[in-house]
Amino acid sequence: MAGRVDLDGKKITPLTICMIGAGGFIGSHLCEKLMCETDHKVFAVDVYNDKIKHLLEGEGGGGGPNPYADRIHFHRLNIKNDSRLEGLIKMTDLTINLAAICTPADYNTRPLDTIYSNFIDALPVVKYCSENGKRLIHFSTCEVYGKTIGCFLPKDSPLRQDPSYFVLSEDASPCIFGPIEKQRWSYACAKQLIERLIYAEGAENGLEFTIVRPFNWIGPRMDFIPGIDGPSEGVPRVLACFSNNLLRREPLKLVDGGESQRTFVYIKDAIEAVMLMIENPARANGHIFNVGNPNNEVTVRQLAEMMTQVYSKVSGEPSLESPTIDISSKEFYGEGYDDSDKRIPDMTIINRQLGWNPKTSLWDLLESTLTYQHRTYAEAIKKAISQPAAS
Ligand code: NAD
Ligand code: UDP
Repeated sequence: MAGRVDLDGKKITPLTICMIGAGGFIGSHLCEKLMCETDHKVFAVDVYNDKIKHLLEGEGGGGGPNPYADRIHFHRLNIKNDSRLEGLIKMTDLTINLAAICTPADYNTRPLDTIYSNFIDALPVVKYCSENGKRLIHFSTCEVYGKTIGCFLPKDSPLRQDPSYFVLSEDASPCIFGPIEKQRWSYACAKQLIERLIYAEGAENGLEFTIVRPFNWIGPRMDFIPGIDGPSEGVPRVLACFSNNLLRREPLKLVDGGESQRTFVYIKDAIEAVMLMIENPARANGHIFNVGNPNNEVTVRQLAEMMTQVYSKVSGEPSLESPTIDISSKEFYGEGYDDSDKRIPDMTIINRQLGWNPKTSLWDLLESTLTYQHRTYAEAIKKAISQPAAS
């Protein structure tokens, strides 16, 4: 919109953005924000576009003219093997790379695809940005921190309560992964190496970059519901797994007792942080940013209990007598799974550079997300359940 100013009060000139992975969960929310609230243009690159169809075809999905038609263009291409990529990067002011395989069920079962997707396939993007003097915002992950130092202390050590043993800081915390046979870490390791490469391009060749480390961003449109808009045997991330269980009135599966801890941030809060990075290059360039909500920490078991309560409220259905069930990681994910124990983001750098803070409590974000899940999937699930299985 006319009149947008940056954090230093300067007028923002509309940008053209090459967004790779624009058809995914984060990309769809970012496209929506850019279309609805700014004058920026987007070249949306992905192999799928279902999650941004409403922007490509107009809000009503048919009928009146699409208000965004001249500002968002979809380019269906696979960045693994498409020579059009460099041209798109050259034509734009900024590239945002979200493309990745980023579901834990893939890390130990498809480690080669995971490494290729998160490292090899990202190489040309970095190279084209560097060679053409284009700015890059690259999506990494909080998983580059791996495990906390604290988890190696004896269970009863009082130091486990000391934040210096678990808070994850961009410029101070080490990256601690498990052994190679724990293939879970293939993703984290590939993301770490691409971060190091981008950082080195900045240091040696002057690439203007920002690296984002998302800490469990969740909300509507995340992943898929198995058997409805994704494969029946597919295993999405925890929000969609638990939503699927709730929709089907099945117990929620707690991997290895659900003891791991996570901090969850609402996608709409997190998108505000990305907008600040896009529109304040002088404050964001050369930085790595944690983006999460340290106040929304729960164990996975607590998350399951909360989602059960919230879903019962939004659906009006009573919860099951035994709402959760324990399952081993070997049975759930297969050989080679391992886990991050705890993820509390240090917010110092993003606060100092961009003045960003998350706002939404876990209860509120689950309420709006599960309302969306119920509205979007409850009928389809009922239909699927009532149909006899194909013989
Ligand atoms: P997502 O899977 O919903 O989106 C990724 C998109 O990239 C998908 O639409 C996919 O089709 C596309 N893509 C993958 N490979 C491609 C290729 N070769 N060519 C073209 N398109 C391709 O995931 P998301 O949650 O939106 O995550 C986006 C980024 O953020 C990823 O890099 C991920 O590692 C990172 N991240 C997200 C979270 C989170 O909380 N959601 C946490 C940590 C890291
Ligand atoms: N998890 C679980 N049950 C499920 C799905 C996931 O207990 O049905 C656990 C998983 O083992 C991990 C946490 O939930 O400890 C978060 O998993 P997610 O897939 O969201 O990704 P992560 O945060 O590990 O990147």
